[in-house]
Amino acid sequence: MPKNPTALIVGTGVGGLSAAIALKNIGWSAQLFEKNNGLRATGSGLSVMSNASTAMKTLLGIDLNLKNYGAEIQNFEIRHKSGLLLKRLPMQEISNQQGTPCVCISREKLQQSLLDKLGDTNIAFEKRAINYVETPKSVQLNFDDGTSAHGDILIGADGFHSSIRESIGTQSIIQEAGYICWLALVKYSHPQITPGYVVHYWGSGKRIGIIDIGNGWVYWWGTANMPSHEAREWKGTNNDIAEFYIGWPDIIHDIILSTDSTSIITVDAKDRTFPETWTKGRVTLLGDAAHPMLTSLGQGAGLSIEDAAVLGYVLRNTDDHVEALKKYEFIRQPRARTIVNASRELSEIEQYDSLILRIKRDVGIWLAPQKKIRERLNKSLLFDNIAVQTTTNCKVFPQL
Ligand SMILES: Cc1cc2nc3c(=O)[nH]c(=O)nc-3n(C[C@H](O)[C@H](O)[C@H](O)COP(=O)(O)OP(=O)(O)OC[C@H]3O[C@@H](n4cnc5c(N)ncnc54)[C@H](O)[C@@H]3O)c2cc1C
Repeated sequence: MPKNPTALIVGTGVGGLSAAIALKNIGWSAQLFEKNNGLRATGSGLSVMSNASTAMKTLLGIDLNLKNYGAEIQNFEIRHKSGLLLKRLPMQEISNQQGTPCVCISREKLQQSLLDKLGDTNIAFEKRAINYVETPKSVQLNFDDGTSAHGDILIGADGFHSSIRESIGTQSIIQEAGYICWLALVKYSHPQITPGYVVHYWGSGKRIGIIDIGNGWVYWWGTANMPSHEAREWKGTNNDIAEFYIGWPDIIHDIILSTDSTSIITVDAKDRTFPETWTKGRVTLLGDAAHPMLTSLGQGAGLSIEDAAVLGYVLRNTDDHVEALKKYEFIRQPRARTIVNASRELSEIEQYDSLILRIKRDVGIWLAPQKKIRERLNKSLLFDNIAVQTTTNCKVFPQL
């Protein structure tokens, strides 16, 4: 095995930072490149489900320790827009089984937790990657300022509009979901919001989530069906958002109106067709660059952490980096495809606006036995490290 092989990583989002953690853990040198002039974690929150921490822990022995930075989910409710409780999801039971928590956290704190884990690492800012050139023994990454960097492998963790994905030549077309998302963090307290509390309210073509992220901070998000071109241009205030939820429980109006309009982020919901190829020679994709998804399962960041753990695992103890990247893609694609499709399917159901479909949806989840709910959740929340280890160590590896 060569001494200290080098990975060039484009992007310093959750995916890029996690990849650097995983690669440093196996003795690689990781060089991160970011087009912006610093690290950015926009002012909202997210959930990092137990599968992500499980992947890092079981494959690489890394404890991400996220619950020290956010709030571990204790009570996850789905409610009808009238306030009626439709279901409690057994998140804690599943976390206990895996021995890793589901954590709700601000993006800033998640970034901080990953940087703390990473320690000293060279991050080059204002470096916009444009393409690469591969030679038999290395890869050259080119930037728009005319400079370049050289390494043993290149990881495109450059998000939804990945330039590395384009350079590989893989097709992935944007699919607009037809709704808007608002996201915000606010210092807020209410008797309903106990430690580790998550509630999602479902209505007609609209939903809203209210989530404790610890230290008195609450993350909320809302959605409403809207043509994507309108969602992209939408410029309303907190009052305008509250009007979408007239007749919904008071806490919803209260939290929206307690949030400064300027701190509310607006996003048009979209994903992409699943790219058939992530890997070419010494180059591969990770996180949203590989598998952008709708947010319904709350797994985009989680899957990028899983990607990083598997990448570290397949690359350890081998000097055949090209073969290892093929294994990474082979192992990750079925799992990512399943979650991308499941997120899209759940998003359609959650955004139903037809009365008949909504009644079917709401009564369906209300009557669903806990065993069935658990089976559905297990598909995304359980990370199968044994399958990854078995496939990685397989002597006869199926060629892509
Ligand atoms: C509304 C919303 C809610 C979400 N909620 C959740 C949730 O609850 N749980 C969850 O797990 N996920 C959630 N996600 C998804 C999650 O945010 C993403 O999947 C995750 O952040 C992707 O991380 P990434 O590192 O792959 O990409 P990004 O975070 O997009 O990072 C890419 C980085 O690459 C940089 N970059 C891009 N191009 C270049 C270039 N050419 N050269 C150099 N640098 C470049 C960018 O500046 C950026 O820093 C949500 C997403 C949205 C939109």
